[in-house]
Amino acid sequence: MQWKPNPEWTPRLVDWYCQVRRPFPWRVEPTPYRVWVSEIMLQQTRIEAALGYYERFMEALPTVADLAAVDEDTLLKLWEGLGYYSRAKNLRKAAIQIMEHYGGELPASFEALLQLPGIGEYTAGAIASIAYDLAVPAVDGNVLRVLARLTACSEDVLKPAVKKELSKLAAALVPEKNPGLFNEAIMELGETVCLPNTTPDCTACPLYGLCEAQKQGCAGELPVRSPKKERRVEHRTVLVIIRKRDNAWTVLLHKRPSAGLLGGLWELPSVDGEMPDEAVRELVIQWTGGRILDTEDLGKARHLFSHIEWHMEGRAVWLEDAHTPSDCVWADADEIRDVYALPSAFRAYAQKLPAILKKEKGL
Ligand code: SF4
Repeated sequence: MQWKPNPEWTPRLVDWYCQVRRPFPWRVEPTPYRVWVSEIMLQQTRIEAALGYYERFMEALPTVADLAAVDEDTLLKLWEGLGYYSRAKNLRKAAIQIMEHYGGELPASFEALLQLPGIGEYTAGAIASIAYDLAVPAVDGNVLRVLARLTACSEDVLKPAVKKELSKLAAALVPEKNPGLFNEAIMELGETVCLPNTTPDCTACPLYGLCEAQKQGCAGELPVRSPKKERRVEHRTVLVIIRKRDNAWTVLLHKRPSAGLLGGLWELPSVDGEMPDEAVRELVIQWTGGRILDTEDLGKARHLFSHIEWHMEGRAVWLEDAHTPSDCVWADADEIRDVYALPSAFRAYAQKLPAILKKEKGL
């Protein structure tokens, strides 16, 4: 299992890319910081979905120093809705290290980049090649798929030994001159032409006639991947607990423990399992010491994490005379919009908050 690079692949890909390149903001001004933030943001997120976030992030935190100094709530608010919040937290951790050890400039070395929190081989390769012109590969899922098809690789591309060989092939293809352009080109091919989960658009491909899978007619079946494990289903009851402050209703938000799923993020309090109304009332009284004015069923919702699937039941509870449990705040509609980031797992209920907060229960 060793593949030789076809000498025509690199120049063909780069020529094609120079004609079709989409002018994303991180490509127009590819400073190391801008490339880094874009690469982290684009992991697990479609380009179209990330664009608005990227512009807002760059406007709020235009330098490594700004990122290192930002408080966590502001950072998470900028990331709200993107998911995988550890990416944002690692960005800030790395920015602090860059300020402490590299004078605020990302290091111009693949190995040094790899030492920073949240930066793996792919991201280090992308920053090193695109921002610093270093001839190193950047192998993500798109690139693996393209390489598996170019070579008609019939083995599971996620097996470490296969991935290693395909990465070696990628390294052999990276030119000394404009290495970043090549890495961007092969990624772009995977994002726009050599697409996953379908038969790729081979007739539009600059590598048509040079690709083993296309010649053998098996491109749609590649890459081979072992089936993913099923997600574990967890049932939860999500509580929208509402209390009046001055003249406005406020909602109880709880800060999750810093370790684990959605670590350190604000949430609508939630408990394991599906709870009937009586049990919810008892729990809320115990937790807040308040007197219940009313409750309301908010319906079901589902959220998919990478390994877990939440099946949620929502319940609104209106209270008076409640205190503030530890690790909690009461937030009004403006604060929920501007200050506290709620993970998208709670989106179904967060979207209902403005209407819920307008209801005048028990008055
Ligand atoms: Fe992918 Fe088809 Fe191009 Fe081969 S010819 S790299 S399968 S799009």
